[in-house]
Amino acid sequence: MASLDMDGPFALDSKAIQSKVAGNPGNFALGTMTGNKRFAVRIVGRSDDNLQKTLLKELKRGTGQPGFFARLFAGKKRINAFKFSHARDAQAAFSKECRNFHNFGGSKKLANKAHPAPPPGVKAACEYCKGK
Ligand SMILES: [Zn+2]
Repeated sequence: MASLDMDGPFALDSKAIQSKVAGNPGNFALGTMTGNKRFAVRIVGRSDDNLQKTLLKELKRGTGQPGFFARLFAGKKRINAFKFSHARDAQAAFSKECRNFHNFGGSKKLANKAHPAPPPGVKAACEYCKGK
């Protein structure tokens, strides 16, 4: 079974983000806690510099504004939990984001609309696109 290799899940609120997540590069997954305490991944992402800040921004995007993200944060299968891990640097975070993206079905299964893009100024290719 695919694994995110992250800590959590935690309830998706600013308190949990501020107390658990540090201001370093890292990766996250947003998802839904189902009735039987299973975490269903909906979106994977990363932060090149400050994971805590990025997660707070995602939370605000989902809860405070209309549109695509707001829809994910509403309804029966709304996003209400997150998992995260810290990374050595932006490039390591990118590599892990690619792995998560492919392991969890890419754009077909995730709410991620596009394949992860490398950090600005970095020429890195996805190691998991090979042979696909
Ligand atoms: Zn790829």
